Amino acid sequence: MVNEKNFKYQEKRGVYIHIPFCRSICSYCDFCKMFYDTKWAHKYLKTLEKEIDNYYMQDEIRSIYIGGGTPSILNLEEMEYLLKLTKKFHKMKNIEFTYECNLEDINIDMLKLLKFYNVTRLSIGIESFNKHLQDLMGRHHDFKEALEKIKLCRSLGFNNINIDLMYGFYNETMKDLKKDLQLFLKLKPEHISTYSLIINGHTLLKVNKIPALDDDSDAKMYDYICKYLRKKHFNHYEVSNFAKKGMESRHNLSYWDNLEYYGFGVSASGYIDKVRYSNTKNFFTYLKNIEKRDSTCLSRQDIMDYEIILGFRKTMGINKEEFFKKYQIPLEEAYPIKPLLKNKELKQKKEYIFISRDKLYVMNEILQKMV
Ligand code: SF4
Repeated sequence: MVNEKNFKYQEKRGVYIHIPFCRSICSYCDFCKMFYDTKWAHKYLKTLEKEIDNYYMQDEIRSIYIGGGTPSILNLEEMEYLLKLTKKFHKMKNIEFTYECNLEDINIDMLKLLKFYNVTRLSIGIESFNKHLQDLMGRHHDFKEALEKIKLCRSLGFNNINIDLMYGFYNETMKDLKKDLQLFLKLKPEHISTYSLIINGHTLLKVNKIPALDDDSDAKMYDYICKYLRKKHFNHYEVSNFAKKGMESRHNLSYWDNLEYYGFGVSASGYIDKVRYSNTKNFFTYLKNIEKRDSTCLSRQDIMDYEIILGFRKTMGINKEEFFKKYQIPLEEAYPIKPLLKNKELKQKKEYIFISRDKLYVMNEILQKMV
């Protein structure tokens, strides 16, 4: 049996801050978002400050991620207010601090402001350069604009840039995907996050009855992306994430390492003191009552299950020694690892157990056999 007292589950925490405002609504988006309005932005930032003051426990912070919505849509005054809030956190040396941006918002003044407040990493939602896919998504930008904006970011000293790639539209061909990948690499990003399109309820795509791509074609596209980016010297470190050596996202890795983090803002979720919580998704409820959160206190078994579900997303997998140090039970004893090793769904390299590369696409089925 695990000794609950010896059970060490946390060191330094991360911080996620959600900014729900957008200029227009993309057809596939099911994030918590609303149209930008400076009056509501002002009220929102005040509420965010209250939430941070109420819940932040003055501990040391290892990473900050400001995401959305579109955090770059805020005007300079609002952006500065938001960035000043991050001064409240006791930051670890060399903290990773990411700010999500849309291409059209990037300009020299906002970049200078981000630099001044020590943002170290930009995450830019490009998704695709293909015109007919962009029409379907409801997003518009061209390669030339992306090249210029990224050049501007680099000239201000941002040398850790992620770009998002979306694929898997019903009318997307392999040729379209290959072209997008080639153009993406011309931007020389340090990191690429890929998203296979999922058509969720309440999105415009769903309402307009746009069909999904068939599973076989989607799997082929995923396979092509993985092989192509690995050939171009990207480390495929998580199911959908690729980075140049040493540029893996520390913030996102902390989710997959099952570490704790604060989530601030409407719809944000967090994991603090063995409690997973989610803030209300309703903007006006959030403004009225920041204490409106759903929370679940996790048992040791729940935490171990999260370790498995999240940890196997990393292509490196789970370190057996670290698992034992954390939970005082061997991984093979806690979960049916051996049969999965035997049928080659899992593999082992030194102390690491991981999902075979050719089985990553069916990761969920493998996880179901374990948890
Ligand atoms: S995908 Fe991003 S930019 Fe588009 S509506 Fe959703 S949150 Fe806003």
